[in-house]
Amino acid sequence: MSLSPVIVWFRRDLRLGDNPAFHYAVESGQPVIALYIDEIDRTRPHGGASKWWLHYSLKSLSNDLSAKGVKLIIRRGVAQEILSQLCRQTAASLIVWNRRYEEDGRQRDGAIKSGFSQSGIDVKSFNGALLTEPWRIKPASSDYYKVFTPYWKKIRSDLNVAPPIEVPQDIKGYSGALNSLSIDELDLLPSRPDWAAKLQPLWQIGEAGAHDALSAFIENGLSDYAMGRNRADLKNSTSKLSPHLAFGEISPRQIWAACTQYDPKIFLSEIGWREFSYVLLFHNPQLAHKAFKAQFNSFPYAKDDKGFHAWCYGQTGYPYIDAGMRQLWQTGWMHNRVRMATASFLIKHLLIDWREGEKWFHDTLVDFDPASNAASWQWVAGSGADASPYFRIFNPITQGKKFDPNGDYVKRFVPELRLLPIKYIHEPWEASESILKSSSVTLGKTYPKPIVDHKFARERALDALKQIKS
Ligand code: FAD
Repeated sequence: MSLSPVIVWFRRDLRLGDNPAFHYAVESGQPVIALYIDEIDRTRPHGGASKWWLHYSLKSLSNDLSAKGVKLIIRRGVAQEILSQLCRQTAASLIVWNRRYEEDGRQRDGAIKSGFSQSGIDVKSFNGALLTEPWRIKPASSDYYKVFTPYWKKIRSDLNVAPPIEVPQDIKGYSGALNSLSIDELDLLPSRPDWAAKLQPLWQIGEAGAHDALSAFIENGLSDYAMGRNRADLKNSTSKLSPHLAFGEISPRQIWAACTQYDPKIFLSEIGWREFSYVLLFHNPQLAHKAFKAQFNSFPYAKDDKGFHAWCYGQTGYPYIDAGMRQLWQTGWMHNRVRMATASFLIKHLLIDWREGEKWFHDTLVDFDPASNAASWQWVAGSGADASPYFRIFNPITQGKKFDPNGDYVKRFVPELRLLPIKYIHEPWEASESILKSSSVTLGKTYPKPIVDHKFARERALDALKQIKS
């Protein structure tokens, strides 16, 4: 008698190693159907940069599966319908997936699970994305931790991270013919214009690329991470694992297992911030839309299309901010220190609602993550759970001097300032006419004048804060 197949629904877990759902399917001994669904009913479709990454990540997953004798089936539509159709077609009796935590996905998964429970098809879900489930660790007095430090202390003392699961060796792929869209048919790549061509050489997308990035970081960046991680100008100072984690090409358990022998407390605590962001998202499904601290919902944000446009395209006249926004545009990624400064600039110097920035990052980051992005924007806005206080307004000049001391970061992304002496690289308006001239800089022509004065902006932001306080 032939065994009924098991469907593995891949979502943001595009890997074969340490993939609990996939592992469970293989271990069941049933023939495996690997499925990816382009869900047409997502309330928040992928942003442009995520789509670009997804295209290559699916290609990589598909190749890795094929090498193991399994074809990746791709379909487009409403997940419940696609899964029902596939179960009917193949007589599959089991569906497995790794959990997702954003509101939209959670609701859908819940509905699908209960729908199938009535039709005798078993659905099993697993934790493939986090060190621990966001509902597991609780303080005595509340449902979840709202402050990172006690949360992380508790996790570190409580958590026994299981060793990652190896890539299964012998996989029985489903042998029946199944129709599938091609990855190209998903139309994920930009074409008019192909703005992503410049991103291509910068990243090695897919599971193998994720592991290469981890090894390179352990070799070149981990030992100096505590100091180096704040330096925007140093190329290997952080792991750049974020897009690989966002698409599940590597799991946090794999990172944990590879790093713990080096005792990298600070690096692992950054993985901890990712976990904590998921705790916040899980308990506050509207994290990307509603201020955690309710009084911030009435903050007097301004409508400033011109300012927003200048910020998006790195034309604010503050070199460190512009370098950050251009790094994002040119590479799909931005250094964490600069993310904080650029976000602060948007919210506090321009008084623009943090949700506008969150949306821009959603569209342009290759590592967009629904939990980390929303939690981090709220952190900067002062409205988040364990947030930086609103009155902490990042100074775009001193931030630049501190975290890009030689101006290399600015010179890389704002090349029109590359001839300026270091002294003026973070504040070109302080240079004399003759220095500007000899550096081929004409403020207002080759590079913008600051769109807002720092001192004025700071006072205005603090006044705005007083309004919600009163
Ligand atoms: P590393 O320093 O090497 O850290 C390793 C991993 O830890 C990262 O890959 C990431 O998964 C996690 N991590 C590090 N810092 C944080 C943090 N502050 N919060 C949550 N997780 C963290 N990160 C995203 O992955 N996706 C986002 O959409 C995102 N949006 C952000 C928006 C703003 C306004 C800010 C201030 C930060 C945002 N971050 C986001 C967090 C952080 O900037 C990135 O995770 C980090 O820069 C990624 O680079 P890396 O992999 O080299 O990090």
